[in-house]
Amino acid sequence: MKIYWTKINKIIEETPEVKTYLLDCPEGYTWEEGAHIHLALEGFNAGEKPNRSLIRHMSISTMPNEKSVGITTRIKENCSEFKAILRKLEVGNEVAVFKTHSNVPLKREDKNVYLLSSGVGLATFRPLVLDYFERADNVNQIHSLNIDSSKDFLFPEIFESAPDKKFTSQFVDNRKDYYEEVKNLATDKDGLFYVVGSDEFLVQNIEVLREQGISPEQIKLDKHDRQLSDFLPSDLSV
Ligand SMILES: Cc1cc2nc3c(=O)[nH]c(=O)nc-3n(C[C@H](O)[C@H](O)[C@H](O)COP(=O)(O)OP(=O)(O)OC[C@H]3O[C@@H](n4cnc5c(N)ncnc54)[C@H](O)[C@@H]3O)c2cc1C
Repeated sequence: MKIYWTKINKIIEETPEVKTYLLDCPEGYTWEEGAHIHLALEGFNAGEKPNRSLIRHMSISTMPNEKSVGITTRIKENCSEFKAILRKLEVGNEVAVFKTHSNVPLKREDKNVYLLSSGVGLATFRPLVLDYFERADNVNQIHSLNIDSSKDFLFPEIFESAPDKKFTSQFVDNRKDYYEEVKNLATDKDGLFYVVGSDEFLVQNIEVLREQGISPEQIKLDKHDRQLSDFLPSDLSV
């Protein structure tokens, strides 16, 4: 496994609680849209065993042609040791990235694509949408629905409806509106439904989608194959 140590080149305050860390792209390093990495802080591999409290999974919120590896995360006042250290990091400080993998590349199957996310889950979808804007081949249209109770919605310049690009973006700030809209979207019985958020959020979305007759194969989660069957048992009947 190759560990890339790289420098923070910019920190963007997306909202009062959400920051994007742009990291120098290590030479020869690339990734697919929807990819996640292990982000590790200084000292994580100092002992015999890796120190888990200094490592987190993070989606890459940028595309390779943006020339930086973007990490977008919410840092609340009461936060983990990992986030408390991250908050104090500055441009020029080093972090490590490793184990890059995408569970949710954009499927080009001539279908309508629905991107359902909660909070910073939208960061996983940012590169999918940019990839689609660059090349819409074999994707009918994309519809993004994001719920964020803070009402500080992320990436407003990209997540803005653009009828000419067949892209629709919706933000809601409460669960009632969110799940009503998921039911509406699920009237498309042939769509692909990507879901990103906490495990509890995934379970609730899957329940609503399955009730509407959406099959497990139409639901795409940011989970490794070995974890997928916990969320989407293929023998589940509607
Ligand atoms: C494939 C994948 C991709 C992911 N991508 C992203 C991503 O792009 N961005 C992202 O942010 N996360 C992402 N995650 C989740 C990420 O790995 C972390 O689990 C998540 O950000 C929570 O981080 P944390 O554990 O450091 O806790 P925090 O975010 O600091 O805290 C989680 C909750 O616990 C509370 N809490 C924690 N510690 C304390 C404390 N000491 N006192 C009081 N309250 C406390 C916080 O208030 C908060 O509500 C991804 C996970 C996976 C599996």
